[in-house]
Parts: sequence; C-alpha cells; structure tokens
Amino acid sequence: MDTKRVGLLLRQKGATKPCHRCDHMNFSVLDGFTKFILQQNFRDGVEVDGASVPVVHVACDNCGAITAHAIGAFGLKLD
Ligand SMILES: [Zn+2]
Repeated sequence: MDTKRVGLLLRQKGATKPCHRCDHMNFSVLDGFTKFILQQNFRDGVEVDGASVPVVHVACDNCGAITAHAIGAFGLKLD
C-alpha cells in the first residue's frame, strides 16, 4: 500500500477536515487495507467470502480515531 499516494489523493479530494473526535489536524494513513463485509442477513453466520468493500484507514495522530475510505474512490489497484 502506497500510504503517501493515499494521503495525496485524500488531500486532492478535499478530505482535509480536522479529526471528528478531537479537532486535531494531523493523520497517518495506515499501511494496508481491510474490508467491510456486506451481508444481507446473519442466518448462516458471518460470510467471509461474500461481497465486501476494501477500505484504507486514516488514524488521528492525537486521539487515534480511525476513519475508513473506500479504495474504489481512489482508482487504486490492490496488488
Ligand atoms: Zn482525534
């Protein structure tokens, strides 16, 4: 994961507001991605191979609050 590129793309998209928890202005892009599982019900438990949204996270350098951004919005490849 190119964290510097993600940070640049976030700034280009105007994602530059202060932390929603503490109003601090500096963030770190976490190195790696996770995914949000999209599930219609829980009858069969949690599906790990179903639909999902890959996301990158930025963490507030002061309080550690984490915000997710869908990777698809950046046009990045996951390889
Ligand atoms: Zn914060």
